[in-house]
Amino acid sequence: MRILLVEDDPVLRGQLAASLQDAGYAVDVADNGRDAQFLGDTEPFDAAVLDLGLPLVDGLTVLRRWRAAGRSLPVLILTARDSWHEKVAGIDAGADDYLAKPFHMEELLARVRALIRRAQGLASALLQCGDLVLDTRSGRVTLAGQPVNLTSHEYKLLAYLMHRPGSVVSRTELMEHIYAQDGDRDSNTIEVFIGRLRRKLPAPMIETLRGMGYRLVPGA
Ligand code: CA
Repeated sequence: MRILLVEDDPVLRGQLAASLQDAGYAVDVADNGRDAQFLGDTEPFDAAVLDLGLPLVDGLTVLRRWRAAGRSLPVLILTARDSWHEKVAGIDAGADDYLAKPFHMEELLARVRALIRRAQGLASALLQCGDLVLDTRSGRVTLAGQPVNLTSHEYKLLAYLMHRPGSVVSRTELMEHIYAQDGDRDSNTIEVFIGRLRRKLPAPMIETLRGMGYRLVPGA
């Protein structure tokens, strides 16, 4: 899952980026509204965390432009404390949720998880496919109740597939959603990670559809 983080305060931006990365997200950052709008227009993010007070173009304008262009990515806006009018304006501009500064990182992470799963039509923080369960809160994966130890890349890949059970996901799509723009993108590595996942899970769970991609199925 890939997040666009837009925040002009360098300290907060650094803390947010580190926390989101620790939680298993690929994170692209922007420190002004113009870059934010460009990234949102050109890259496929699973959610955006958008500060409203930004240089060059303010956050509300960025959000309105995305929505006017039909971009439906889930957006969590960061508002000033006690600024109820910012919240109202943000929701009217198309924000899915808001958080007033200062906030606890755990709350931000919980809201981001909820936005992403709701966008996929998933109600629970526990993603399940057959005997395989991925807890998006803890990042733990179990198979028939037994823990499955995954590297961070394997986890990112599996988390993306588990947000789309039964759907065919292409290698390009996987690449675009588990790596940030400056990440080390190489479609061969996707195959390698899929191979490693297959050795840790019942192999038939990850189907290969020739020329199309991969599909996670409950398996036998
Ligand atoms: Ca700001």
